[in-house]
Amino acid sequence: MPEARENEPQAPLIWTNVLMFVITGAIALVAVPWYGLAHGYSTAAWICAVLFTGANGMAVTAGYHRLWAHRTYDAHWSARLLYLVFGTMALQNSAFVWCSGHRTHHLHVDDVDKDPYSARRGFWFSHIGWMVREYESGKPDFSNIPDLKRDRMLAFQHRYYVPLALLTNFGLPLAAGLIFGDVWGMLLLAGVARLVWAHHVTFFINSLAHMWGKRPYTEENTARDNPVLALITYGEGYHNFHHIFAHDYRNGVRWWQWDPTKWLIAGLEKAGLARRLKRTPVFQIQRALLSMQFSRAQAQLAAHPGNGQSHIEQLRARVAHEYESFLTAVADWARVKEQWLGEKTRAVRESLEHVDLQSRLRAIERQLGLQLRRMRILQAQLA
Ligand SMILES: [Zn+2]
Ligand SMILES: [Zn+2]
Repeated sequence: MPEARENEPQAPLIWTNVLMFVITGAIALVAVPWYGLAHGYSTAAWICAVLFTGANGMAVTAGYHRLWAHRTYDAHWSARLLYLVFGTMALQNSAFVWCSGHRTHHLHVDDVDKDPYSARRGFWFSHIGWMVREYESGKPDFSNIPDLKRDRMLAFQHRYYVPLALLTNFGLPLAAGLIFGDVWGMLLLAGVARLVWAHHVTFFINSLAHMWGKRPYTEENTARDNPVLALITYGEGYHNFHHIFAHDYRNGVRWWQWDPTKWLIAGLEKAGLARRLKRTPVFQIQRALLSMQFSRAQAQLAAHPGNGQSHIEQLRARVAHEYESFLTAVADWARVKEQWLGEKTRAVRESLEHVDLQSRLRAIERQLGLQLRRMRILQAQLA
């Protein structure tokens, strides 16, 4: 539900943004199909549009988002340069502005006064509305990006953002048009249509990914996991996982979840262009999943119409029993982990004791994995 802010005087419009969205949107909706019907597009124009779209999208997800905003890994300068070129072309402001706003979004997620694109202010606001007016919540404040301000490449991009954005947006499609002999086709398809598509796909992560989907890891914020959105957002649709474990380089954490951004980062690591990839320990992921399952099961049991019936009482006893063993496993984990850290400081990493501790941690993870499966079955019986 959008929160009431009607009594507030309307913030002034940011005309450059309004015109940019309106003009590019109108060209994409009217001129692009008209030109296609009247003249047709060359194969080269289609290929370049797809390539630029992918490069813009991944520069935002792997570069702006997972590298700079969240520091989930370190990247070689050549990768950072490519992120910067195609991230500038995506026309979503400089990395300074983007990352500062995004860090605020994570810190104050859903807060109607502090989250710059709070989903609680409605679909329109979180999708695009927050960029077209000078809202108090959108005022740039670079105090949360001291690490980025030290990066000279990013400072250069911020300083010359407008000419660089114009250069990449007109220059690259124009150059491709001249090379392949289809200037208008390239400008319309690989220039404007590509830009509008890349814009709205990213904007969906702030709007739809906070409204449509499941919340398997936490209900403390509106972020959702949505495999359909992940398909068009290069993996960012697994937004519920992302909001609870933002320092993980993966958003789709399971190996089968569609997250081309994580595959790109892992590929860069293999090629020696990325390192220190951060992964959330399996135990923490399992603990979050199980906690959610228990709170759901308890709510379902409390609201069940068949209260007092023997099979419901049986389920209640089974859930209670599972919860007991979950708490024991969590306590065991904490104890073993403490011992393990103690061992590490005593620098006996290779000792038998150390191997033993690690295998005990793995055993707890296996146990929780089985418990997750049992809880899923219990949940299905409760539904
Ligand atoms: Zn979010
Ligand atoms: Zn994020």
